Formats: sequence, C-alpha cells, structure tokens
Amino acid sequence: MGRIIAVANQKGGVGKTTTAVNLAASLAAAERRVLAVDADPQGNLTSGLGRKTAESRPSLYEALIDEEPLESLLVPTELEHLTLVPSDRNLTGAEVELVPLLAREFRLRQALAPVAGAYDYVIIDCPPSLGLLTVNALAAADSVLIPLQCEYYALEGVSELTATLERVRQALNPSLEIEGVLLTMVDERTNLTQQVIGEVRTHFQDQVFETQVPRSVRLAEAPSFGKPAILYDIRSKGAEAYLQLAQELLSQGQMALFVP
Ligand code: ATP
Ligand code: MG
Repeated sequence: MGRIIAVANQKGGVGKTTTAVNLAASLAAAERRVLAVDADPQGNLTSGLGRKTAESRPSLYEALIDEEPLESLLVPTELEHLTLVPSDRNLTGAEVELVPLLAREFRLRQALAPVAGAYDYVIIDCPPSLGLLTVNALAAADSVLIPLQCEYYALEGVSELTATLERVRQALNPSLEIEGVLLTMVDERTNLTQQVIGEVRTHFQDQVFETQVPRSVRLAEAPSFGKPAILYDIRSKGAEAYLQLAQELLSQGQMALFVP
C-alpha cells in the first residue's frame, strides 16, 4: 500500500501547492510511482502539472460527491511515473455538499482505497482552510506534511492546525502522523530568517525536515509553464531543494523499515 501524504496548512500562500507539485515530481523522478491529488478548488496543482482546470472535468468533485471511481479520473502528466487526479472550481461546492452525506469525512479515503495500492506515494494538495476537504485529506492520509513560510508570522495559526490534527486523530484517523514540517521561501541572508528557523525548530524539534526550500524565482515561474521545477530548470536552487526533500523522505521511509 502506498504512503498517503497530505500537504496541509490552513494559512494561504505558504507553499503547499509548490511543495505538492515538486515533491511529487521529484519522487517520480526517483522512479517511485506517484499519484498527485488536487483537493483544492483553486486547481493550482492541476494547472501546475500542465492541465487546464476547465478541461479537466470530471474531477475530484465527481469522486467525492457522485462516487465516480477515482480510476476514471486519472490523467497522465509529462513525467512517466506521475499521475494526477485533477480538481476544478466545482470542488468549491463540495465543501457544502459533503455536509449531509453519509461518512462525509471519509469520502476521499473511500475513493482512494481501490487505487492507492498501485502507487508508492499519494500526495494530496489541500486548500487553505480546515474545512471538510482538508479533513477528508487528513482522514485519508498516513501523514501530514506542513509547509511553513519562513517569515515573522510563520507559527501563527499552527496551534489551530495542531488542534485539528488532534481532533482528526481522536475521531477519524488514530494513526495520522506528522511526516515533517518544511520551511519554505527561506532567505538565509536575513537575521529574521535565522530567528524564525530557530523558533520553528524549537517548536517542532526533530519533526522539521533538514531540507529547507530557498526563495527561488524559478519555483515561482514554473507553474505558469505547467511544469514542475525539475522540468523547467533542473539546475535551479528550488528544483535541487525538492529533489533533496524527496531523498530525505525516501531515506526516512527506509529507516522506518528497520524499526522493529
Ligand atoms: P494557497 O494557500 O493559496 O493554496 P499555497 O500554500 O499552495 O497557497 P503556493 O501556491 O505554493 O502556496 O505558493 C504561493 C506563492 O508563492 C506562489 O506564487 C508560488 O509560486 C510562490 N512560491 C512558493 N514557494 C516559493 C519559493 N520557494 N520561492 C519563491 N516563490 C515561491
Ligand atoms: Mg495551494
């Protein structure tokens, strides 16, 4: 069974989608079979992997609401080992339409169950809220990867996120782990950055990834070409950082195998 990782933080613009796109692509480049799931109505993961959201119907909406098999929604990407479940604007309605449905928090878990076994990693990009779409992702996931933008307010909202993780563990998914906290948009040159890195490492201790993602113009440009950074400019600092993150994740997985 593949490892299902939700990329979540209810704070907007912290690098969730950039991380989901580029981690998925880097794992695929390492020849792991990867499924990228766009659980955000903004559809940035979908467009970041080269699909126009308007063209991509049916999307995750149909899987969550109409119980359309996820298998029928899969679309290929430019990378051989990377497959996408696209989203589109319809998914905005799902947040409300899920409310009266049976097992509303488990719709994504149920949708993924028949296909997850075909992948080594399933990476879910969450929207910037703690609503039902994010809760569905957390209920389906083995772990959550939390991107934190390296700025003065990095830890703002983290207690709310931690409380949600705790509630999800108690009510829906007892084995949900923290895969790691990822510092994004890091600018090593400033004192503030050093201070924020220090605070985040004090708060999350060994849960913080060694890898830090620097501010990189290439990372910000790549989505407008519908490409992950490794296909846009593999020599950029941003591409390198996400390749390194993938290696860190893969070696964590190997270590876990040796734990009795
Ligand atoms: P949302 O909450 O809206 O879904 P998000 O958390 O998914 O946002 P992204 O879309 O990944 O965040 O990033 C926000 C913006 O910052 C985007 O324009 C993205 O290109 C840019 N960005 C992300 N990471 C970096 C980076 N390391 N260097 C430079 N720009 C970055
Ligand atoms: Mg996003």
